[in-house]
Formats: sequence, structure tokens, C-alpha cells
Amino acid sequence: NIDLSMRRNSGKKYVCTADLNSAPSFVYTQLEHTQKGIKNMLKVKNYQFWFCTGSQDLYGDECLRKVAEHSRIIVEELNKSGVLPFELVWKPTLITNELIRKTFNEANADEDCACVITWMHTFSPAKSWILGLKEYRKPLCHLHTQFNEEIPYDTIDMDFMNENQSAHGGREYGHIVTRMGIERKVIVGHWADKKVQERLASWMRTAVGIMESSHIRVCRVADNMRNVAVTEGDKVEAQIKFGWEVDAYPVNEIAESVDAVSAADVNTLVEEYYDKYEILLEGRDPEEFRKHVAVQAQIELGFERFLEEKNYQAIVTHFGDLGALKQLPGLAIQRLMQKGYGFGAEGDWKTAAMVRIMKIMTEGMKDAKGTSMMEDYTYNFVPGKEGILQSHMLEVCPSVADGKIGIKVCPLSMGDREDPARLVFTSKTGPAIATSLIDLGDRFRLIINDVECKKVEKPMPKLPVGSAFWTPQPNLKTGAEAWILAGGAHHTAFTYDLTAEQMGDWAAAMGIEAVYIDKDTNIRDFKNELRWNELAFRK
Ligand code: MN
Repeated sequence: NIDLSMRRNSGKKYVCTADLNSAPSFVYTQLEHTQKGIKNMLKVKNYQFWFCTGSQDLYGDECLRKVAEHSRIIVEELNKSGVLPFELVWKPTLITNELIRKTFNEANADEDCACVITWMHTFSPAKSWILGLKEYRKPLCHLHTQFNEEIPYDTIDMDFMNENQSAHGGREYGHIVTRMGIERKVIVGHWADKKVQERLASWMRTAVGIMESSHIRVCRVADNMRNVAVTEGDKVEAQIKFGWEVDAYPVNEIAESVDAVSAADVNTLVEEYYDKYEILLEGRDPEEFRKHVAVQAQIELGFERFLEEKNYQAIVTHFGDLGALKQLPGLAIQRLMQKGYGFGAEGDWKTAAMVRIMKIMTEGMKDAKGTSMMEDYTYNFVPGKEGILQSHMLEVCPSVADGKIGIKVCPLSMGDREDPARLVFTSKTGPAIATSLIDLGDRFRLIINDVECKKVEKPMPKLPVGSAFWTPQPNLKTGAEAWILAGGAHHTAFTYDLTAEQMGDWAAAMGIEAVYIDKDTNIRDFKNELRWNELAFRK
């Protein structure tokens, strides 16, 4: 027996070996850890995806034997492909109302099952699916494929047609799922096609995001920043829609946890910082600098212990309400985000939960480029070089960093505390998405913008924070115009490693509105879409 828990650890790639005559089995090889030395708290379950094939008993045993054989081969080959981040589990062919209902209820009850993937090999009368679908509560995927890639021109006869009629059966099944109003993912194409496998892999991450949403607990340190609207929202409705638990603590309760961290533990962590990051004194006294850094080390450990003890996976802070904390948590929060915690600044619990969701969805991804909270700060309007400089007061996750990461200690122009230590860096280039979850009073809306991350033209030696720079799609003017019309926030949950499709599917599964701003966006159509959505999402 192989320890399946290994496959879900960050930075480890799995290698599958399965022979066609037995149930899939996995062998894993450990690759280099992507976040060397940093503990990762993203322990996502060993989720499995059930592969259920639909048919009926009209075609005789010989046909059903082939249906089962084909679906077994597909499952085994997909598991062997190395493309899927989670294991597919083959299930016996579903041919009756009773068996379909029983299987869906077993999937509901199985804690490891994240999703049922359905495939209609033959025609499967869809009334047989109604009761099972009605009782099913997890993410659903319809893989609309067929066993053979090509029509066997020379040999095709009516027996072949009866046995291989996914095009026919998939439509009957699709009809009932649509009629019942069930949200599901439909993926069309031959199962051996790499692009189809990649879409399935991408959907698996979305399904896990859907499953894990209701396990997110956000710890609010102090309240939302006074007078700020867009970071506010209905926490009860958020728990109903997303399953998030959002709790507040007086800041001094977590400050006590920081106080309780021993000097020895702080020293060890400071050593790790000095080992790992470049120390950018910039004229400050080395002893004094180190003391400032030590304050952040103590906050990192104190916060982490508090969150672990009380089972929270995301946190918000507020620079205006720091109680007994000596510095605004900067470096400390940056490190916690890198470990997998969600974060939102100034009490922004929606962004904190979204960052956590996106970190879960990207967990263990090979060559991941990073996920962070970001904030739209300032524009470059120079023609041909348009973009938005992204940063925050301190709290940008170093998972997005490109190249060296340094530590600086600088004054904070806001608040009344000592100069906080922070990690400074610039970010990677390439396509990414920025998302904003807003509360419109009667509903939530997720705004998803495709962005292109770039390097700024020149270094910014006086900017003492981690930053990114991007041009929103389709361009700065239309992208920002659409974002503002949609009511998007200045805070975003940002990632290089997920697609708009994945976040849109997640939103659909949560039953909320999602709008996309991408290469196809134009303002006239976008405004109409917002107008129509007012009706579509009316309670
Ligand atoms: Mn902010």
C-alpha cells in the first residue's frame, strides 16, 4: 500500500503506474520542494473523483461487458497520463434508477469523493437519473467523450452504432441535468486528447475549491476599516452561499499569543530570515534593524499558533487597530500567505477567504507562479506602456516574487507604530487573473479580469514594498472602465495559476453572479450584461 497523502504535498509530482487489468495504483516520487524551508499549511484532502458510466440493459450482456471494459481503460489511462492532479476511481456501470440513486448517495457520504464524473457510453434513459441527481449534493461533471477517436469506416455496422453512441446518450442525459437546473461542468472531446485531459485536470481543481469552500474559517483581527464600503459585506449571507465562517477577535487576544512566543523561538526564525532573504539595511543600524525584524518573527509565530489552535485558515488585520502589537504585521503576514493562509487587509474578509480558496485550488501545482492579495495603487497612462502598479502597504505574498527577495525596515506613513519590517520584491511576468468578490446588497458578484503581468520600465528604488505591474485585458481603458462599472474593489485576490474559467465555474457552483473582463470585453455589451444580470440574479 502506498501512502496517498504524499501526493497532496506541495512541490511533489506524482508518477502513476497502472496496468489495464487491475484497479489503478499510484507510485509517487518526491521532487524538490518548491518552497524550500517554509512550512506549508495547505493540507488538502486526498480527494478522489468517481468515474460513473451510464448505459442500460437493452443491449445485452456482451455490450455491457464492453462498456465496462472501455470505461475501465479510460480511467486507467487517464490516471496514468500524469495530467490529473487527483485520482479517478472507476465505478460499475450505472444502468438502473436504483443503482444510480445508490451511487450518488454513496458519493455524498464518501468524505474523499469530490465529484462524480459522468459519461454516457450508450443511450441511458434520463428518467433513470432523476432521483439520483436530485439527491446528489457535490460537484458534477459530464465528460462527453467516446471510447474510439475515429469512425471505423471499414467495419462500422449497427452493433457498433448501438454500443458507441455517446453523441446520442450524452444529449439525453444533458437534457435532464439542464431541465433539473443542476450546475455542472461539461467537457467535450476524445479522452486521450491532452487538451481534454488538461480541462479535466483544471476542473478537478475547481471541484476541490467548491468542496473546500465550506471549510474556510476567517479570523478577523479587529473590525473593518471605518467608512470603507467595498471591503464590507454580509457575513451571514457569505456563510449561506460559500460556507465561510467569519469570526472577530479583539486584537489584544492575538497580541497575547504573540507575547507568549519565546525569545529562543523568535531568534531561530530571525536566523531563518537572515539566511533566506537579502538584508537591505539602507543606512540603518544593523542591531536596531534586527530588532525590528524580530518583532515580525514574533508576530508570525504568535499569529500562526493562534490560527492553528483555533482552526482558522485565513486572517484579516487593520492598520488602525493594532492594540498591543508593536508593528503592523508585514513580513509576518507575507510569510503566512506563502504558507497558504488567506489574507485581506483593513478587515477585508472577502478577499482573505478568496485568497485562501485560490491557494487551495492551486496547491501542489507544478511550476506554480503564485497567489496573493493585491491592491490597485497607481496608473501608468503613457501610451503603449499602460498598466496598473499593484502593491499594498506591506502585505504582498512572496509566492509571486520574481528573483531575489529582500527585507527592508521603513516608516509607515499611516498608523502610529514603529517602522515595520517587510519583504520587498518584484513579481513574475505573464498572464494571470485578478478577482474581486463584492456584496451588492442583494447578492454577491465575482468580477474576474484577465491581466497581463509585466516588468515596469525602470527600477523603483524608493518603493519599499513587494509589487506587481499589469495591463488589464482588453486594455487599460476598457478593462478599468468595465471593472469600475461592475463595482470591483481596489483589493483583489490574484493568481497566475488559475483561469477565469475555473473561477467562473466556482462562482456558478456557489450560485452567485460572475462577470468576465477579458480580450472580448466591450463596454456596450458589458453594460447590458450587468443590466440583464440584475434580473437573472434577482431573489
Ligand atoms: Mn488596502
